[in-house]
Amino acid sequence: MSGGMVIIGAGECGGRAALALRDLGFEGAVTLIGDEPHLPYERPPLSKEAMTGEVPAIKAITSEELLAERSIRHIRSVRAVAIDRAAHAVRLSDGSLLPYDKLLLATGSLPRKLPMPGLGERCVYLRTFNDALAIRAHLNPKSRVAIVGGGFIGLELAASSRKLG
Ligand SMILES: Cc1cc2nc3c(=O)[nH]c(=O)nc-3n(C[C@H](O)[C@H](O)[C@H](O)COP(=O)(O)OP(=O)(O)OC[C@H]3O[C@@H](n4cnc5c(N)ncnc54)[C@H](O)[C@@H]3O)c2cc1C
Repeated sequence: MSGGMVIIGAGECGGRAALALRDLGFEGAVTLIGDEPHLPYERPPLSKEAMTGEVPAIKAITSEELLAERSIRHIRSVRAVAIDRAAHAVRLSDGSLLPYDKLLLATGSLPRKLPMPGLGERCVYLRTFNDALAIRAHLNPKSRVAIVGGGFIGLELAASSRKLG
């Protein structure tokens, strides 16, 4: 059986690439592997609406129905742990082996972890929807917040913290 196109990373890039393959008429198998439990989603709302909205909604870029309709297989909560280029196969964290004809790496990026011991569970990073939920749980009018990283995301988080009182 042909492995078709395997995409590692089911973020916005991986998700949109899978849909684009179908838009462009690709008829082979398309498999999207993601280590998050969610459908591919947009991250920009994580520091804004997902933090301050009444309900922390995820902004998915597609739906289960659309993926099924377009014959895109989405494997969730599973990590690609090794690539065997000679055998054209990806080893997954559940122990299975997935064959591919072509492989797309859409693994994105991660926040730099602070190399300091003892930060504990009150130190949280913001990258995923689950991170946003964890941060939201800490934000209340009684909490004091220190944000390390004063780029766009840090500043948006500061503004969202104020908005939440
Ligand atoms: C809070 C926040 C706010 C942002 N706001 C903006 C904004 O306002 N405007 C803007 O332009 N950009 C913004 N960005 C940046 C933008 O969201 C990123 O550029 C975008 O997420 C990149 O998408 P990606 O799919 O390439 O990577 P990612 O979003 O990092 O997705 C990669 C996915 O691959 C998964 N993955 C990685 N390795 C493996 C593996 N081995 N096996 C399986 N899965 C794996 C990851 O868990 C992740 O789900 C923001 C980002 C954040 C975090």
